[in-house]
Formats: sequence, structure tokens, C-alpha cells
Amino acid sequence: MSAQRAIRMTEVGPRDGLQNEPAAISTAAKIAFINALSKANYAEIEVTSFVRADRIAQLADAAEVMAGITRAAGTVYSVLVPNERGLDGALAAGAQKISVFVSASESFSQRNVNATIHECLEKLRPVVRRARAEKLPVRGYVSCVVKCPYDGAVSATQVGHVCAQLLEMGVTELDLGDTIGAAVPDDMDRLLAGLRSVAAPKEMTLHLHNTSGRAIAVAERAIDLGVVSFDCSAGGLGGCPYAPGSPGTVATEDMLELAARLGLATGVNAEQVRAATAQLRQDLALARA
Ligand code: MG
Repeated sequence: MSAQRAIRMTEVGPRDGLQNEPAAISTAAKIAFINALSKANYAEIEVTSFVRADRIAQLADAAEVMAGITRAAGTVYSVLVPNERGLDGALAAGAQKISVFVSASESFSQRNVNATIHECLEKLRPVVRRARAEKLPVRGYVSCVVKCPYDGAVSATQVGHVCAQLLEMGVTELDLGDTIGAAVPDDMDRLLAGLRSVAAPKEMTLHLHNTSGRAIAVAERAIDLGVVSFDCSAGGLGGCPYAPGSPGTVATEDMLELAARLGLATGVNAEQVRAATAQLRQDLALARA
């Protein structure tokens, strides 16, 4: 009997989703959301980001959230950190993994963080070194791997160049982001083929956005090509969950439906995800009112 094929699901709603919601919910509501998600048995939950409060006010309570949640055995609790100070916060909070980010597009990097790709990579180097010395795995987010809102198409060669430098400095997982949700399924063939010399599809995570309604079609092609790890956001949190053209990360519920259709195990309990999403929608509605 052969083992059922499986994909690994990382829930990024509490970080990526809430960061992009204009209304900030209370610390207690965030903790309740993450605790509800923890009952769904994810491989990983990205809890928050240790960023400066004046940059992202929605996540200013990162330490309180980390201290308040009840962790499930078997789930990795990770946090995003932009710099060494963020790493200090992550270590103090007992994060089991950190994420760092860089763009594959020069213009996006300049406009988004006012630094070149090279400058961003140099700033991350000591962060990754220290995290690895503390035995933490490090996810390296690479944004705009298909298209940049300013430069247009981004070549796989350029993406590979950034990925190779992240691996060289000690990053343990590459997470490729279609930041503006522009990808079509054929882009996965081009991208993954172009990255072959850097990393195999089964070693990468994909972070897809459903901006154009194609995230599931793109994910299905990526699975065909050997990708087994995906980011997802409960309820498609981050854009308006009900509006077509929502810029949110691909919804966890949609990814679970795809996995079920393809006969892939995820380990994630869809009922629990729906319960967590429903509860959060109520809290967000209250925060917006
Ligand atoms: Mg996202």
C-alpha cells in the first residue's frame, strides 16, 4: 500500500491577513483566532510580525499575542522579522521559526522598503546567522516572483539569483510569492524550470494571491510540477473575503477543497478552519463598526 500524497499547509492569516486589514482587532480577538486555528492541526501558523508599531499598527501587540496563545503540539509557530531587533522580539517570545523577506524586483524593493535588493539581503545576513545559531529554521519570502506592479514580468533568472543568495546565507526554506496575484498556470512551468539549479519544486513553498481569481488553478499546476508546500489564509483574509478581485492570500478553505479534489492529505480540519474564520469575521465586523 502506498502512502497518500500530502501537501503542507502554512496558515498566514494571523500575520499576512491581519496586517492588511485596515481595522485592527483586539489582542484578545487575535489570540482567540489563533487558538481556534490551532485546533485545525496545521503544519505551521505564522502568528505575527515583530515590526515597528509605527510601521504596522495592526501587529503592534506581537509579544502579547505570542504570550497569550495556547500552542498545539505538532504545529510550528513562526513569526516574521524584518531586522535584528525583530529577531530579539521573536527569540524572547519563543518563536519556533522566523521568516524574513526580500523582493525579486528592484523597483518593488525600492518603493516598498526604500532599499535595493542587495541592501535588503545584507541587512538580513546577521538576522539569519543569529537565528540559525539559535537552531531556528528560517523561511525566506521572495516577493514578486512572477510579476512586479512597476517593472512587469520578473525573470526566473532574477528570482533564482535572489533565492541562491538566501540559501547561501543560511535560509532553510524558500517561499515564493506571487505578490500581486498575476500568475497564470504556465508561469509555474517557467518559474520552477528556471529555479531547478537552485532548488527543486519539492523544496519550495508557494505564496499565491487570488487577486485575479487564478490562485487555485496556479496551485494545481504547481502541485503537478512537484510543489508540496503552500501558504494560505483562513477566509482569504487580507482582502475583502466577499469581493471578487480581493487581493488576499489564497483562502485556506479553497486550498483544502483543491487538496480533497486531488486526493491529497493536508492533516488540516476544514470544519475547524471554518469556525475560526466565522469567529474572526465577527470580530472584524465589530472593529470596523
Ligand atoms: Mg499574502
